[in-house]
Amino acid sequence: MAPVPDFEQMWRDLAPVGRSAGSGGYFRQPFTSAEREATAWFLEQCAARGLDVQRDRFGNLVAWWRPDGVAPAAAGRGVLVGSHLDSVLDGGAYDGPLGVVSSLAALDVLRDRGFAPTRPIGVGVFAEEEGSRFGLACLGSRLATGATTWDRARVLTDRDGVSLEDAVAGVQTGEADLLAEVGCFVELHVEQGRDLVDRDAAVGVASAIWPHGRYRFDFTGEANHAGTTRMEDRRDPMLTYAMTVLAANKQARLSGQRATFGRVDVRPNGTNAVPSAVTAWLDARAETAEHLDAMLADVERLAQERAGRDGTGLVVTAESVSGPVHFDAGLAARIAGPGSWPVIPTMAGHDAGVLSAAGVPTAMLFVRNPTGVSHSPDEHAETADCLAGVEALADTLERLA
Ligand SMILES: [Zn+2]
Repeated sequence: MAPVPDFEQMWRDLAPVGRSAGSGGYFRQPFTSAEREATAWFLEQCAARGLDVQRDRFGNLVAWWRPDGVAPAAAGRGVLVGSHLDSVLDGGAYDGPLGVVSSLAALDVLRDRGFAPTRPIGVGVFAEEEGSRFGLACLGSRLATGATTWDRARVLTDRDGVSLEDAVAGVQTGEADLLAEVGCFVELHVEQGRDLVDRDAAVGVASAIWPHGRYRFDFTGEANHAGTTRMEDRRDPMLTYAMTVLAANKQARLSGQRATFGRVDVRPNGTNAVPSAVTAWLDARAETAEHLDAMLADVERLAQERAGRDGTGLVVTAESVSGPVHFDAGLAARIAGPGSWPVIPTMAGHDAGVLSAAGVPTAMLFVRNPTGVSHSPDEHAETADCLAGVEALADTLERLA
């Protein structure tokens, strides 16, 4: 077989795909031309390595390296590595693609080492991990595991009103049950924090994903004239909302958790009108489900007290709440042990969390991110750390396959 591009060459080849000339960030929304171009690049890499590509009906892919001379039935279930190629809007280069490119590079390292697997090794690419187009994160892996049904997902629409069903109809899909052959999953990912910087380690192993909730806060008041309405006569939901943002931030800081209001709708959204209603979304994450519930209860209590003083109304609705994910401790120990990689928790959701919740023994490897910035064009990892990640992944595959 002809030589294949190494990690650095693959990284350079993939780098321009979906990159904005303005911000330098990435726009690889699922089933758009940029994401399809990245997928086509992945398929070329699989072909160059002689991998057997399988597709499911949702656009997820797994490319298998099967043991030579071993019948599929005798080889047993495979070790899946990989990640995703889609990005958030104006995202970074590393979130997702680092795991896919490192997986291909790890296969090359194993072949260079003369390693002959006894189990199949698959490189997976899950669709719409970020939820940037259809609003549901880890959509591809949720569909692959059955955590979300096709009936529920197919009617999801993007901002232009295109349904998932119509978007998927435009891409090449298959009928494979991709997880039928999967015995365990190891996802390599750029770290989305500074834990590894603080620990002075290039690579780390994930222990768990924090519980996560998204809550809609509907504040209601009374629309009125910004000039003629005396301050003391107003029922202004913006005030209640503003205090709630500060309260959420304070509660999260006091308890060492995370709380973010990143999205808000104001009605009527006029410069010269006291608003009638404000709807805002709280993204909250905490160490345990109990901490998450307690933090939400504190924020809601403070917000209701303020609403009482403002003469406004407030209804809080949980839109999605996911419990903690504890990765397979035995698998993490096998990965971390020999290299002495630190074992750290993460506050971000991943396909690995979905597979773990579905009963697949799962582990994650993180590669150091010097600034900790993620979901932004500033996301970064040094090449030396990326190569350490490739070696760690290859070592892991050698032990597992
Ligand atoms: Zn990711």
